[in-house]
Amino acid sequence: MQFPRAHLILIFVLSLGLTAFVFAKLTEDSEDMRFNTDATLAAIPDAATLSEDTAIEEAALQTGEVNTAIEPADAAPPAPPKWQATRTEVRPGDNLALIFKRHGLSPTDVYAVSNAQPLGKRLRSIFPGHELTLYQDEAGQLMQVDYASGPLDTLIYEREGKLFTSHQVTAEPDRILAYKHGVIDHSLFVASQRAGLTDNLTMRLAQIFQWDVDFVLDIRPGDAFYVLFEELFHENEFVGYGEILAAEFVNQGDHHRAILYTDDAGDKDYFSPNGTSMRKAFLRAPVEFSRISSNFNLRRVHPLFKTVRPHRGIDYAAPRGTPILAAGDGRVTRASRTKPNGNYVVIQHGEQFVTKYLHLSKFGRGIKSGAKVQQGQTIGYVGATGWATAAHLHYEFLVNGVHQNPRTVSLPDAQPIASSEMPRFKQHAAEFAAKLDTYKTQVAVALAR
Ligand SMILES: [Zn+2]
Repeated sequence: MQFPRAHLILIFVLSLGLTAFVFAKLTEDSEDMRFNTDATLAAIPDAATLSEDTAIEEAALQTGEVNTAIEPADAAPPAPPKWQATRTEVRPGDNLALIFKRHGLSPTDVYAVSNAQPLGKRLRSIFPGHELTLYQDEAGQLMQVDYASGPLDTLIYEREGKLFTSHQVTAEPDRILAYKHGVIDHSLFVASQRAGLTDNLTMRLAQIFQWDVDFVLDIRPGDAFYVLFEELFHENEFVGYGEILAAEFVNQGDHHRAILYTDDAGDKDYFSPNGTSMRKAFLRAPVEFSRISSNFNLRRVHPLFKTVRPHRGIDYAAPRGTPILAAGDGRVTRASRTKPNGNYVVIQHGEQFVTKYLHLSKFGRGIKSGAKVQQGQTIGYVGATGWATAAHLHYEFLVNGVHQNPRTVSLPDAQPIASSEMPRFKQHAAEFAAKLDTYKTQVAVALAR
């Protein structure tokens, strides 16, 4: 570690104090402590569970109680108590008719419920393991059917005369803050898996930083990430992942931080702690990096004609068929084929910028001269057409007609936080920057032991 030992000991002692305080506070408040993201306090991860390569599992200790049986805000009023409720699980091979028959209900009921508007059709494909609740009145007449179609979703069918009506209720999950940390030695995906991140979360993490970090060419051993995200629970059961709330990515010694912020209009996006957007006018790497295995990361293709013509672009070695993305918003000025270039695309971005993509196996849908494209849109697929020895994307970036290195050229920023929102943003960002700092300290302390 780079910290002097004395500092580490000091941090350790301070953290112990903090832990004691946190636990004292939790005990004190536990009666009325609702578990949501804002109220979550991270506890110090158990050092014994840490492996050397810092994949910290379950750093989010679940402290306090998890809410159970939350009544959704827009739930149907509870069924009258005199109704008898019968809960039953869908069995393999079941259908509504079989289930109703088992419970002494008639084909007329099956017909009425499965033709309920607008959700009757949904009962024609019900899944084993899902739960149905049947409500019958004193006379045994079927009055209501609830079908738990997903961990948070319930379809409700209610009798109205001879017919049934239906609507869907979605429960609000409990959100619990979780932390993960990983250090990369070969690939982001390997490091993420070791740290316990799903591929989907890893993709989302990389997408947050895709304007600052070239995840194909610029990832190096020792690069690291710290990520704070939500785990969603309903009735004490894990039901999925929520948002990444804050993250730090360390790339070749550069620390990039992003904080999720919801503005007054309700739009969510990631910003650096000082309020600049994580989005930039151009992606750092115009290829879908998730498809590129670690083997490809550090290898470059040597162009056939390097000695006779200057190489003015960047080559991304990638498997044939890897999607190529428009680096920025713009208009296609050429989608054509020549002997040296193979299939190639040229995009004009405003007045100043032009990007070129060569050796494509094929073009993206609708990509032709004059087509408007958006940043991140697939404009073609990696191939080896033209003068290419192996499948790769040759990418060029021109500013005012002059070739520039897209990985080092300074680029225009997207809209920062509106000044009217700055005070609220600053407060929010400070809170999450502090959470990241605390977590990083915990990681450092745990590793130093
Ligand atoms: Zn090239």
